[in-house]
Amino acid sequence: MSTRRHFLHQAGLTTLALSLPFANSLAQESSQKDQRVLRVALMGLGSYATRVAEAMKTCTKAKLVGVISGTPSKIELWQQKYGIPPQNCYTYDTVAEIKNNKDIDAVYVITPNALHKEHTIAVAKAGKHVICEKPMAISSQEGKEMIAACKTAGVRLLIGYRMHFEANTLDVVKRQRAGEFGKTLFFQGLSGFVIGNPSQWRLNKALSGGGAMMDIGIYSINGARYLLGEEPIWVTAQESKTDPVKFGEGIDETITFQMGFPSGATASCLSTYSLNYLDKFFLSGTKGFAEMQPSTGYGPIKAWTHSGPLQHPHVTHQTTQMDEMAALIFDDKQPLLPVDGEEGLKDLYLVEAIYQAVKSGQKVSLPR
Ligand code: NAD
Repeated sequence: MSTRRHFLHQAGLTTLALSLPFANSLAQESSQKDQRVLRVALMGLGSYATRVAEAMKTCTKAKLVGVISGTPSKIELWQQKYGIPPQNCYTYDTVAEIKNNKDIDAVYVITPNALHKEHTIAVAKAGKHVICEKPMAISSQEGKEMIAACKTAGVRLLIGYRMHFEANTLDVVKRQRAGEFGKTLFFQGLSGFVIGNPSQWRLNKALSGGGAMMDIGIYSINGARYLLGEEPIWVTAQESKTDPVKFGEGIDETITFQMGFPSGATASCLSTYSLNYLDKFFLSGTKGFAEMQPSTGYGPIKAWTHSGPLQHPHVTHQTTQMDEMAALIFDDKQPLLPVDGEEGLKDLYLVEAIYQAVKSGQKVSLPR
């Protein structure tokens, strides 16, 4: 409620006030707020950006209005496909010029992981809000620099955690928080797929920052945190590699890892680039359980608990995500599960701790 309306309400004058001359402007202000659309430019026009662009066609509070790409032919194609005007097209070298573009509110960074920091900071310096894909960066140090840059520039930094807006996921989270499963003491997360083309950036450490853990294992880290509702205090981890040529130095193929939480809960997880059909969460408590499979794929997400299946209809994740992010930015809406830079950073600390545990063979403690 706006301060002015709140004051009038408090004073019991709402009805009277609405007959006053400024009633119209008040109503206009409120409807403008409700109707404000987040005008987004996508940076990096690869496969995930295409998925986001398609999903945004049915958004009500967000709209694709611009592109940033290093490939002129792609820009041309996207202009035609999504009706992007020429003045909203940029290259990686001209990002700074977005500062002067009043028709763009936010840039969604969907480039390879190692470029997220450079691209996020460039967008922040151009004075635009940043939505950045997961993992937010390839190290916690980079993540911290991104948060600082966005803070200095006075822009929002949101991480593309689409599951944080998915209805079945949120239902399980709410049930866990309400105690429906009793004391939740165990989480299992299985995240993996068979990766194809060996020459892609995901298998190049300089661009990916790591292997399956950075890319897909991070879903189990994130899922353990949101389904248990706690932050881990230790990790242990073990790595196995069946193809050291495809998965070179610094590119993890398969890691099993465990996390311990302050309540005594534990998580047991698998991250891999060598198995398909591996997309499952299981949460066990003293009074019940929740199971999700698929748990983080593009959906439909299937979830059930000890009392039966959850029935929330499937909505394209990125559609909900972008509408909700518009509300976070414009209406200061508070999400049940955070999607800010600090949230991205928490996952990166854990990725680093897991890599450290693999290397040392030791349990790694995390600060509370
Ligand atoms: P992609 O390879 O399909 O697209 C990457 C884009 O970045 C391409 O358009 C490419 O041209 C561009 N690019 C710019 N500089 C590049 C460089 N130096 N090397 C290679 N490409 C360069 O990858 P993607 O699958 O779209 O992934 C992009 C990001 O999105 C990654 O961070 C990934 O983790 C994330 N992602 C998130 C989800 C999700 O569900 N949230 C799903 C897929 C990917």
